[in-house]
Amino acid sequence: MTAFGKIAIIGLGLIGSSIAHAARRGLLADEVVGFDASADVRTRAAALGFCDAVAEDAASAVTDAGLVILCVPVGACGAVAKEIAPHLKPGAILSDVGSVKGAVIGDVGPHVPDGVHFIPAHPIAGTEFSGPEAGFASLFDGRWAILTPLPGADAAAVERLKAFWQGLGSNVDVMDPSHHDLVLAITSHLPHLIAYNIVGTAHDLEKVTEGEVIKYSAGGFRDFTRIAASDPTMWRDVFLNNREAVMDVLGRFNEDLAVLQRAIRDGDGDKLFDFFTRTRAIRRAIIELGQESAAPNFGRDSKS
Ligand code: NAP
Repeated sequence: MTAFGKIAIIGLGLIGSSIAHAARRGLLADEVVGFDASADVRTRAAALGFCDAVAEDAASAVTDAGLVILCVPVGACGAVAKEIAPHLKPGAILSDVGSVKGAVIGDVGPHVPDGVHFIPAHPIAGTEFSGPEAGFASLFDGRWAILTPLPGADAAAVERLKAFWQGLGSNVDVMDPSHHDLVLAITSHLPHLIAYNIVGTAHDLEKVTEGEVIKYSAGGFRDFTRIAASDPTMWRDVFLNNREAVMDVLGRFNEDLAVLQRAIRDGDGDKLFDFFTRTRAIRRAIIELGQESAAPNFGRDSKS
């Protein structure tokens, strides 16, 4: 028998299906049962076969599961928790993968029955693709997963969830939820906002045609388009649910942008050079930590 016996995954998109693939690869469950609100996704997931069974409702998916993971958009977590709460097994761990932690804790927390361990989590791994076909077993390999246990959380349960994410291939950090939301606001949420904005601006420019934008995209634009292709539902929910931290870092970002704007206007080459030199070091550090490829063109082949 594995640590959790049966694992239930609610939401069978990119992250849910990847967890199922990786749990199977790592022999982490006796049985993986999935559920998705969409009948179409359930049918596709069953055909792909990454779960041992796809349930017809959330309640039967979670019944007798030792670990239940919510892999739905952040804004849906509260409603799902409410629905499954009466069916959770005493002693089970309830977790999630939401990109925002404070809001999920506020939405899910009130529904968690006594005797169930609620331990929020967030894998810092993903792609711009969504849906059950997008998942793959190695998504979490060498990436970080952040657990944000609440004060007074059961230490043994936290350790068990940590071991599970390590079994999926991740490195694991434990963090305070509000600090998580601030860190992710600058490392993930703001970059997505900037990418959505620059791609939108390019699309709306009157004096440069869309054909030119696409043809000359290798000049830098292309790297923003990958991020700006990310799932609209997921990202709408991220910004609605991490408003404070995003506004905080957006304020700083606008101030720094104004400094660069002034340096360009004043022809202050030294300021620009110093700034660009400082930022280069960050990329070097990311590569050294194994979180990105140093290969030319980000390791992409020439067709991609
Ligand atoms: P996804 O591929 O769109 O999958 C989400 C799935 O959940 C969809 O099939 C969706 O069905 C289903 N769903 C929506 N509401 C539901 C409900 N009430 N009950 C059951 N299923 C429901 O999204 P994802 O990328 O896997 O993201 C899932 C979660 O992971 C989000 O909270 C996101 O913040 C987090 N996350 C994402 C990434 C990433 O890079 N994508 C990385 C880390 C964490 P419909 O399509 O029919 O709505």
